[in-house]
Amino acid sequence: HKSIAGWNLENSYAGLPDLFFAKQNPVPVRAPGLIKMNEPLAAELGLDADALRSNDGIQVFAGNQIPEGAEPLAQAYAGHQFAYFNKLGDGRAVLLGEQITPQGERFDIQLKGSGRTPYSRGGDGRAALGPMLREYIISEAMHALGIPTTRSLAVVSTGEEIVRESLLPGAILTRVAASHIRVGTFQFAAQWGTLEELQALADYTIKRHYPEMEDGENRYVSFLKEVIKRQAALIAKWQLVGFIHGVMNTDNMTISGETIDYGPCAFMDAYDPATVFSSIDREGRYAYGNQPYIGSWNLARLAEALLPLMDEDEEGAIELAQDALSDFGELYHEHWLQGMRAKLGLFSEEPQDEALIEAFLLLMQRNKADYTNTFRALSMDKPEATVLGGTPEFAEWQEQWHARLGRQEESKEDSLKLMRRSNPSVIPRNHRVEEALEAAEQGNLCVMDNLLAALTNPFAYSDEQEDYALLPEESPRPYRTFCGT
Ligand code: AMP
Ligand code: MG
Ligand code: MG
Repeated sequence: HKSIAGWNLENSYAGLPDLFFAKQNPVPVRAPGLIKMNEPLAAELGLDADALRSNDGIQVFAGNQIPEGAEPLAQAYAGHQFAYFNKLGDGRAVLLGEQITPQGERFDIQLKGSGRTPYSRGGDGRAALGPMLREYIISEAMHALGIPTTRSLAVVSTGEEIVRESLLPGAILTRVAASHIRVGTFQFAAQWGTLEELQALADYTIKRHYPEMEDGENRYVSFLKEVIKRQAALIAKWQLVGFIHGVMNTDNMTISGETIDYGPCAFMDAYDPATVFSSIDREGRYAYGNQPYIGSWNLARLAEALLPLMDEDEEGAIELAQDALSDFGELYHEHWLQGMRAKLGLFSEEPQDEALIEAFLLLMQRNKADYTNTFRALSMDKPEATVLGGTPEFAEWQEQWHARLGRQEESKEDSLKLMRRSNPSVIPRNHRVEEALEAAEQGNLCVMDNLLAALTNPFAYSDEQEDYALLPEESPRPYRTFCGT
């Protein structure tokens, strides 16, 4: 199947029962142009960047040409959207297939913004340039932060306008993922499939993501437990960097444990668990501090969907599911606590660590201290540079912290190194992302390239990055994110 660009596609998902997808080609676009391509990712996938950049290469990203081996399809799924259950599916995306890399790994290649599908409902199947570049920037920043995530291989403009509140330039994002199987895919199977179809999906998913448990005893319970583990670890990582997903619907939670769906997400500025950016999240369901709780709520929906596979006896199955779900809290807390220790330079463990951490978070909250920059300043041994510096309550906390550092073997320099590995000095600040998107929409891609260069090296603490750590000028209105554009 191998093409000149290195496409080496097959579509194993197309082997699932028919109800899980609709065969669907991308709808061709008028005049595609390459806006952005991810060369390191292309290389990892075994693709040739020059060939991808050629006219033929761009036609693939645009959906105008289908590479050999691809079997384009739109996936069916369901989802609890803000707690309401809906039948969904890829309304503006097609899965071309899976790229088999030179190392034998398998990654979904999905075009997002590729036109209408049977699941589009009222939508136009299209995406605007700004939001697709935004996904590119933030997903690549997350990857650089060491957080499992879908990735972005390319963004092309379509040469067509799409209708939103105003006319916007259309674009297509090529998304790369371990897979696009979601909690909502299992909900869909449980709701509209037969037991055999549900089992086919579970077996396929286990084979793809958890092959080690294929022959295990009660593999569906092991599978559930493993997803719970991965999501607990993932959400802890979000909390540690202040990432707010913004739309943790069950259709936006992967089985692989990767972050997916960069719609209304944003990074927290001042530390406050109640922080919400999304314009549609009026009740704060997906606020920063709620994310672990929502994660476990979503996993309970996964457990419900898997019940018929876990045990013939329903009560027995419920017991197994509850047992698995009860692990989430502790798993999450372990990851979070370990991560917070590292952020404060702690190598060893003491029972009072959590109180020390909580006291620090409370200080930040009371003083509206910037989450990233406060940890950054501590990591640079310059706490006086923050709004906390000079306050008596911080001096008191610092004394306890220093005493705690003094009780471990490692030197202060070792602690600072650990902190600089654990606290990013640059995150995708909302005003910087907006600035990059505005320039890109005007045809100037330098601003975005410079931003990406800083974001893909978030622990460098280099002088050139200083600028990206600066906070925006005081704004009279809170930052708001939007989805679905
Ligand atoms: P999201 O909020 O991004 O998770 O999307 C929720 C659902 O709406 C998914 O099934 C999407 O495929 C669908 N959707 C979002 N935007 C569009 C669009 N412009 N056209 C068709 N479907 C869409
Ligand atoms: Mg989604
Ligand atoms: Mg979305």
